[in-house]
Amino acid sequence: MIDTSALPVVDVHCHPFVKQGELAAEEFTNLVSFPGGSVEYMAEGSVAAGDDLIYEIQRVRQDVVYFRYLVRRLAEFFDCKPDLDSVVEARNRAIQDYAGYIKHLFEECNLTALVTDFGYPTPQLERAEFIQDMPVEVMPIYRIEPLIAELLKEDLAWADFQQRYDGALAQAIEHDGYGGLKSIIAYRTGLDVSPLSRTPDQGLQALDAIQRGIGGQAMKKLRDHLLCRALELCIQYDVPMQIHTGIGDYEVNLTMCRPALLMELLRFPTFRACKVLLVHSGYPYSSEAGYMANVLPRVYCDVSEGIPFAGGGARRIYSEVLEMAPVSKVMYGSDGFNLPEVNYVAAKLGKMALARALGDLVDADLLSEDEAQGAAGLILAGNARRAYALD
Ligand SMILES: [Zn+2]
Repeated sequence: MIDTSALPVVDVHCHPFVKQGELAAEEFTNLVSFPGGSVEYMAEGSVAAGDDLIYEIQRVRQDVVYFRYLVRRLAEFFDCKPDLDSVVEARNRAIQDYAGYIKHLFEECNLTALVTDFGYPTPQLERAEFIQDMPVEVMPIYRIEPLIAELLKEDLAWADFQQRYDGALAQAIEHDGYGGLKSIIAYRTGLDVSPLSRTPDQGLQALDAIQRGIGGQAMKKLRDHLLCRALELCIQYDVPMQIHTGIGDYEVNLTMCRPALLMELLRFPTFRACKVLLVHSGYPYSSEAGYMANVLPRVYCDVSEGIPFAGGGARRIYSEVLEMAPVSKVMYGSDGFNLPEVNYVAAKLGKMALARALGDLVDADLLSEDEAQGAAGLILAGNARRAYALD
């Protein structure tokens, strides 16, 4: 039997949480549920808008398997009745000592480091303030899209735009302690980025077309160029690039977020040198991400978001990724946001599902028990520690 329960965990993709005091059961439900956006926003503009739809969205969030699992794991943690009200009541008592509560949660699942994308939530949270309450090492990640939005507002000439963009990314990595970059281009113009977009001429032409209000594809061309540039800077500074692949909140284009769309870009000679993490291993296209980690020398994948939010799919996600990905290139992550309880429950589920997925490989005599136990240590922490040079 593979035992992962005591192993240390590094959460390779998550977000800072908002310091929250006592919460009502509905507020708690909304904050820990996927996709994390506000219920009011989801209901806005709908024909059935209003309290009915808000109430309905809130209620069905509690019917998701992940949510039921979360309530039961937290009830165990608090040693209280396994229902939402009892859990929220116990949580509201524990949160009085905010830092102490998080320490207890993280110790209980042996969560030892967070690789944290500060690009969500917006407006962005104060880094020092978040880190000061964390009992573990936090490696911040810099998201490129807020920078692009800021520069676009300024109506800059291309030479200035280019200089400011490069300068901000270099500053983040070299001086501000960011351990790597992140892009959510899948949410904006899609993952089908041509590697030839790297020419600065494309950036110049696209920015000019945007400013003059001509050319429907100009924004895509500009974003594609800027992603290429970010990859080049990651190569230069030897830090990983995280690229969102697969599901996200309901705005994501579910057919243009497949990892396969990145193949042309990532196999291009220049970009093959870049360490790229396919965030969420492109769930539900997980085996595709595993394949890319196999054939492309510096491509990795993490299991975040699918774990924990796909609940019962957790074991299958590991199994699918591990069909082709080397065990040295798969990383655990949660995509936890809003509240630390998400990171906690994800770590519990992530460990349990990994033990089962690796156990299947041992049962089939595809791995020895020692090999599977070694793989568990790498996937839960070792691979991320190496990629992000964590202490
Ligand atoms: Zn995320």
